[in-house]
Amino acid sequence: MFKIKARDLLGRLGELQTRSGPIETPTLAPVISVSGGPLSASEIKQIGFDVVITNAYLWMRKGEERDIHDALNVTGPVMTDSGAYQLLVYKSINTNNEEIIRYQEKIKTDIGVILDTPTGMVNKTEAELTVDKTLKSEEDAKKIITDEEIVWTAPIQGGLYKDLLDKMVNNAKKMDYPLYALGSPTPLMEGHMYADLFDELYQVKMSLPSNKPLHLFGAGHPSMFSMAVALGADMFDSAAYALFAKEGRYMTIAGSEKIENLKELPCSCPVCSKYKVSELLKMEKREREKLLALHNLYASMAEIKTIRNAIQSGKLWDLVESRARNSPELWEAFKNFALYSDGFLKRTAVRKISARGFSIIDEYSTYRPEVLWHINSIKKIIANRSNLVITSREYANSCEKDCFVVGFPFLITLKTLNKVYPVYFAKYTPPSPEQELNYIQRKLVPILRDKKVEVLRDKRLAEVLSNNGVDATLID
Ligand SMILES: [Zn+2]
Repeated sequence: MFKIKARDLLGRLGELQTRSGPIETPTLAPVISVSGGPLSASEIKQIGFDVVITNAYLWMRKGEERDIHDALNVTGPVMTDSGAYQLLVYKSINTNNEEIIRYQEKIKTDIGVILDTPTGMVNKTEAELTVDKTLKSEEDAKKIITDEEIVWTAPIQGGLYKDLLDKMVNNAKKMDYPLYALGSPTPLMEGHMYADLFDELYQVKMSLPSNKPLHLFGAGHPSMFSMAVALGADMFDSAAYALFAKEGRYMTIAGSEKIENLKELPCSCPVCSKYKVSELLKMEKREREKLLALHNLYASMAEIKTIRNAIQSGKLWDLVESRARNSPELWEAFKNFALYSDGFLKRTAVRKISARGFSIIDEYSTYRPEVLWHINSIKKIIANRSNLVITSREYANSCEKDCFVVGFPFLITLKTLNKVYPVYFAKYTPPSPEQELNYIQRKLVPILRDKKVEVLRDKRLAEVLSNNGVDATLID
């Protein structure tokens, strides 16, 4: 059901097959409200979205009996949510797992969701209950489901409790659902607690089999899409385009602005090509809301396409790093990317396709897989050597064949590796000698501690190493 075409970090280009057609991933499923939002499903699909999502529980409450494609007047894939969000907000809902599964089968959804019990922000005892209830629903569902052509989604609960998330994923993955979804991060999203959200996402992603697609419920602004994809979200849904439009907010990749604060519409979508800010401000509120919603979705789709290009060309890290600079919360989350590097290396081989070069901006960039891959390779080379000859960038010319050059960003490398991948392809500005020595002291000392090291000509380097417990001697 899910074909993977390319990978970068934990992101991938894929295709999820549904009976109404394929869904290209990564993608956003815009939320369509039951009461009718600013845009129709077909207007949304015309922008290029393969799938829309709507709430099965609310359609059921409304008494809708038709095929959901007829109800929405649209062709192609439709995903329905089970009503768990209402459960999170209103604490109870008037349905059960069996009823909502039967209803989703009746309205012929393409992607359905098992009724889960969202964790939200609760204490651990309550959180464990939500995990147990959700697992029970997913087990029961296996006996309830009659329409196997629906891509059934198993939500993952557990919230911020890592052991509960583990319990949840390890049991849910045994049930072999075609699609998994990280549930109820909305409280995190609304509080812009991206670092916590992305920790959860990473943990779930690394525990799931790598051939399974993963949906993220309730993603927000396009500026966080690339980070979500890099940590393994293949799909996400969002109502932000409509909620923002209702408040008169115009999305850009850097954030969102009240339309009256803008001088220009810095975008070339059909809305922004046709109208000026002053014209939008003169319109009826409903008309303006519709046009803003359209623009917001064009802006979201542009970011999805940018992400797909980045995965294709092995440049997802660069994109995530630049987007992270858009907000302090995203930057906090990006600082954790160092913790995810093992996963990046485990799930995605370092590909030499980025032979056009990659940028190292500062020390945070040194956690990119290319650099770690290099450092791991050198660690293997020096593992069996008890003594090494090393020197700094400044004295690299005096370095013989078997001598290592140390420094930013690759930490330690053989001169002979300078003309090959990845060292040759890295673009960076060397830091000041003080900063570089500091980097060496923090990062290289642990690697050299049990070695006998001869330092070629660089007196300060020899001193820093000796002062930090390395058996280092200066040679000339
Ligand atoms: Zn636009």
